[in-house]
Amino acid sequence: ARIYFDTDGKPVRLVGTNEDITERQQREAALQESEARFRSTFDSAAIGMALVSLEGRFLQANDALCRLVGYTQAELQQKTFQGITHPDDLKADLALMQDLLAGSRESYQVEKRYLHQDGHAIWILLSRSAVRDASGKVLYFIAQMQDFTERKALLDKLELQATKDYLTGLSNRRHFLERGEAELAHVQRYGHALSLFMLDIDHFKNINDTYGHKAGDIVLQQLSRILRDTLRSVDIIGRMGGEEFAVLLPETDLQQALEVAERLREIVAAADVVREAGLPLHFTVSIGVVTLKQQDVNLDMLLNQADRALYEAKASGRNKVCVST
Ligand code: GH3
Ligand code: MG
Ligand code: MG
Repeated sequence: ARIYFDTDGKPVRLVGTNEDITERQQREAALQESEARFRSTFDSAAIGMALVSLEGRFLQANDALCRLVGYTQAELQQKTFQGITHPDDLKADLALMQDLLAGSRESYQVEKRYLHQDGHAIWILLSRSAVRDASGKVLYFIAQMQDFTERKALLDKLELQATKDYLTGLSNRRHFLERGEAELAHVQRYGHALSLFMLDIDHFKNINDTYGHKAGDIVLQQLSRILRDTLRSVDIIGRMGGEEFAVLLPETDLQQALEVAERLREIVAAADVVREAGLPLHFTVSIGVVTLKQQDVNLDMLLNQADRALYEAKASGRNKVCVST
């Protein structure tokens, strides 16, 4: 009840409720029913749900979450989410949780790994939001967790298919261009050296025609292995088309690039390609080399220049290294 006063301080009005007992009982029953309904929704939800304290303790966890991580309710209540988070995923999650505490976010969603009770890692999709009091202080967190393991595996597989060439495991054309652009931008920003090869197998059509398509595939795989073994891990290798490869060499000037190209050419020419049946076969490659000169060229221009040098290497007899002039 509240009493209102006039300017002289005399009471002028009394406002209040004079409810009867049954009304209050009805209200309490309704509250209990709504709590029970909430509890059963929480308990029987198909996705994992938990109320989590500011320190990360599981205050309440539902059955779906227990099944997901392999712990009982009682066991989980003895744990923190930090304790069952994969060590590599903890930092990112904690940083986002700080944002919730600081009030710069209301909620967030993140893909992360939990460690199942039996030790194996499971991917989950986590949504976490903060529950605040009237003054805005965070009281606890609500976390919802869905099993993400199968979808994660599928996404990883799709990513691999989209970026890697199936036969050789090298970057495909699109992925080479993407990584190449990023590397070129970096090199241009710091004014470093950079060189690029275009490399093409000589008379590859003959190899297919003489020994069969399968032997051709083995040649492509052998060449890819030589490229990987001979080049540095910072060099970017891509299969640009059938029997055509591009290599980006960061921090490499023309002299160094020519040495590497020449070494590659010799290793390829000396390699025995062991086939499923018959004598080993041999093959050669031609290489066009270009080095970054003006700082304003783009990757397309470099590839074109290297392509012209490659054409020269072909025209002058193959099994050659030529430089773009
Ligand atoms: P050049 O010395 O001028 O480069 O002659 P080439 O015969 O190597 O060039 P051409 O472009 O005429 O032939 C390329 C051949 O590569 C034709 C194509 O059937 C073959 N090829 C492309 N992709 C594959 C593949 O994945 N596996 C196999 N086995 N052959 C492939
Ligand atoms: Mg060829
Ligand atoms: Mg070709």
